Amino acid sequence: MRVGIGYDIHRLKKGRKLILGGLEIPYHFDLLGHSDGDVILHSLSDAILGALGLPDIGVYFPDTEEKYKDMDSQKILKKVSEERAKKKSQLVNIDIVLLAEEPKLSPYYEKIKANLSRLTGLKTSNIGLKVKTMEGLSSLGAKKTISCLTIVQLR
Ligand code: MG
Repeated sequence: MRVGIGYDIHRLKKGRKLILGGLEIPYHFDLLGHSDGDVILHSLSDAILGALGLPDIGVYFPDTEEKYKDMDSQKILKKVSEERAKKKSQLVNIDIVLLAEEPKLSPYYEKIKANLSRLTGLKTSNIGLKVKTMEGLSSLGAKKTISCLTIVQLR
């Protein structure tokens, strides 16, 4: 058994679509990033790479590369899943804590989990997803950023 942890944070801004867990979420801000800014998929991908003892997603997908601009982060997770398969490692479960003051995400929990299930091959019963606010504190509470922590178990 191996475990890995991943973390990501992106600024909120106006301009594109808010993408979380590969899903478009209706909101008047989106996450600034070289790719689509999907903090869930970035932290999940880094957690898997960490469990495998591999470098983080910035090494595989440098933000200096124009070809990765506005990239769908589901492609990042796909690449990471390929690296995991090469090491003959399987995901056991994942647990995600998303820190977001807004938008209200409870209506999307099941859809996000279903998409993560599709992307990882895990049953939804092996995917934890919680969304916490910061009670108005810090840049997260001020609705300037959204961040995400993910832990994974591999065997
Ligand atoms: Mg990121």
